[in-house]
Amino acid sequence: MPIIQRIDIPYTWVTRESRMSECKSAKNTSRCNCSYEPCSRKGVCCDCLAFHWRNRELPACLFPDPVERTWDRSLRRFIETYKDEA
Ligand code: SF4
Repeated sequence: MPIIQRIDIPYTWVTRESRMSECKSAKNTSRCNCSYEPCSRKGVCCDCLAFHWRNRELPACLFPDPVERTWDRSLRRFIETYKDEA
């Protein structure tokens, strides 16, 4: 008996998987508000999020432009920014 058996994957899972494998970096870059120009992660949102979350920070796109331009991407700044909107 084979250890790994064939599993039928629903069609919707396959299409979801396919979509996730295609990086939309060009589209992401066009709407990215990050003002730190030399960054190689611009438009590669998964790398951007992972990079900042390692330091308990958040990506530029989660901050309004005036706050984003301070480059303070800390959780503290995020909470300060949105605390009255919760
Ligand atoms: S938010 Fe950070 S990681 Fe993302 S593009 Fe800007 S500088 Fe790079």
